[in-house]
Amino acid sequence: MIKMKKILAAALAVVMCMAIVGCDKKDDTAAPADSAADSVVSSVEQTPATEDNADKADEKTTKTTLVMATNASFPPYEYYENEKIVGIDAEIAELIAEKLGLTLEIKDMEFGSIIGAVQTGTVDIGMAGMTVTEERLVTVDFSDSYATAVQAIIVKEGSDIQTADDLQGKKIGVQESTTGDIYATGDFGDENLKRFSKGNDAVAALASGIVDAVIIDNEPAKNYVAANDGLKVLDTSYAEEEYAIAVNKDNTDLKEKINAALAELKADGTIDKIVAKYIPEK
Ligand code: GLN
Repeated sequence: MIKMKKILAAALAVVMCMAIVGCDKKDDTAAPADSAADSVVSSVEQTPATEDNADKADEKTTKTTLVMATNASFPPYEYYENEKIVGIDAEIAELIAEKLGLTLEIKDMEFGSIIGAVQTGTVDIGMAGMTVTEERLVTVDFSDSYATAVQAIIVKEGSDIQTADDLQGKKIGVQESTTGDIYATGDFGDENLKRFSKGNDAVAALASGIVDAVIIDNEPAKNYVAANDGLKVLDTSYAEEEYAIAVNKDNTDLKEKINAALAELKADGTIDKIVAKYIPEK
């Protein structure tokens, strides 16, 4: 827990540093991008995906779309309602696109492919309840934060796991490449983790006894528990985080415009309204 907070503090320090003095982080240490295009499972909204969308970030001035990569199995931030991707992120992105005079196009892909897609310019932004971390800041930039979250622990009702410390030696389910995965790997060891491509699948594994606990962001955790009998979210949180929008490092102009749009949406209460619509008790 303490370690987690340090990780967050370090990540935030880097964001601040970059915001204030424009610290120059090297790109060449970047992990190779996943083949994001291969993992795109669907594309929704207005404009069909064309070669143009894969154009480099510096050609953005001619673009009419804002292409957003997400992983749409993360309610209430992004999920399918009928054929459409909805949720807090989808609505905020729609309004940002509108303010930028662009049409939003959402590409649904594996969570682990999003950073690579932003880095290579296959998409303009990554918005997926994505936590700002030091590692991610090596390859992409982040907008200002628009939400805070905590990593929560889900267990079966009646489980003997009551705090994060009780997870030692247990089988832990996580969503691959997420901060839950990264932190739990460090704290509990690779051999104790089972990785799933969707949070939903990790929760299904918990319900059927394949894993003893799932570490995942708190709001999705509440949604998953509400949809599955016999599960509960522990009261203790595992790590605190900030969500922000990932942008290509070469696209400072877009990042600044997004930050300006976010500032307006925060100031006029729009973001609070969207959050209240999807998280009524907040
Ligand atoms: N907030 C977590 C992360 O950024 C999980 C995000 C997600 O699964 N969509 O890694």
